[in-house]
Amino acid sequence: GLPLWLPNGTIIRRTLEEFLRSEQKKRGYQEVITPHIGNLQLYKTSGHYPYYKSSQFDPIGVEGEEYLLKPMNCPHHHRIYGSGLRSYRDLPVRLAEFGTVYRYEQSGELNGMSRVRGFTQDDAHIYCTHDQLKGEIKSTIELTQFVFSTFEMPVDIRLSFRDENDDKYGGDRSYWDRAQSEIREVADEMNLSYRIVPGEASFYGPKIDFIIRDAIGRKWQLGTVQVDYVMPERFDLTYVGSDNEKHRPVIIHRAPFGSMERFVSILIEHFAGDFPLWLAPVQVSVLSISDDYVEYADQVATVLRESGLRVETDHRNIKIGAKIRNAETRKVPYMIITGSEEQSGTTVSLRRHKQGDIGTMTLDECLQMLLGEVRNRALPPAGSTEEVMEKNLE
Ligand SMILES: [Zn+2]
Repeated sequence: GLPLWLPNGTIIRRTLEEFLRSEQKKRGYQEVITPHIGNLQLYKTSGHYPYYKSSQFDPIGVEGEEYLLKPMNCPHHHRIYGSGLRSYRDLPVRLAEFGTVYRYEQSGELNGMSRVRGFTQDDAHIYCTHDQLKGEIKSTIELTQFVFSTFEMPVDIRLSFRDENDDKYGGDRSYWDRAQSEIREVADEMNLSYRIVPGEASFYGPKIDFIIRDAIGRKWQLGTVQVDYVMPERFDLTYVGSDNEKHRPVIIHRAPFGSMERFVSILIEHFAGDFPLWLAPVQVSVLSISDDYVEYADQVATVLRESGLRVETDHRNIKIGAKIRNAETRKVPYMIITGSEEQSGTTVSLRRHKQGDIGTMTLDECLQMLLGEVRNRALPPAGSTEEVMEKNLE
């Protein structure tokens, strides 16, 4: 239940994190870092303790105080928001963190990378005025949709609302009604097709859940956007309005990927290991036809690496056909073959996984093409070699 990220998985995860981080930067988020344990008092204030006690690890006693392995990032971000005086001019404040959290799941509940005891959320909390709320909900939905459309993942949208069981939820009923109708208004304004499911809300507010169907049709809840009027009260969060009075901000909790562990496990199945170039752990395999071309192959690999591409070389003393088959089996997106013609003309001969030979070009042309594909986050071409060749002949 405590995943170890091996080198290739780490490349994919870090690349996804960088992708989201750069999108968040464009959208005015600020990144923060919070610790892996927190004072138990924080979770008593939030109400997560003792209500969620059974899904948390036992507290750790230190010098007469009790600490919890962090079950969620929210209270820490609320403390950061509350650490200084905030004016309405500062809002919205958008705090983001790839924060690792720990939940106690019974061993029977654990499942691969999708149900684990320690996982990292691509978490963020947006503190805004009530006037800004709908606009902020809208832009978090747009960001989440942008993320899933990058992978062409089919998404269902669920509005997870409260049911009539008052014991399950914190905060005034009037706040809930307001938050639910605001979520619905935004969803309608955006022409989203959604389903309303009562009883699926979190205890502090209603949410918009993004549900993905994986390669074999199973459904997974990934992204989420939640509206929260409860925590601002519990943590006594305020801002000074234009009237010089103190007001309560509203909080949006959001995580497009949800959990990096779960998202990566679904992504691997979604692409069946055939990753788009920008995500592939090895992007290019440089294959030398024989020992005579090892040096040129190394020069090519160096040029590509210096431009930031992830490159391996295969100098084994085996037939070029075997090297190609090996790279194809491992689903390396591109193969570069270096032999006498290429060496003398300082060109490279390029192959695309599943598509076969692309042709000979100068190293610089090849480099620009690969970098462009990375930059555009292009998806791998659909179809087998035969299908792609047929398409080319049409
Ligand atoms: Zn949160």
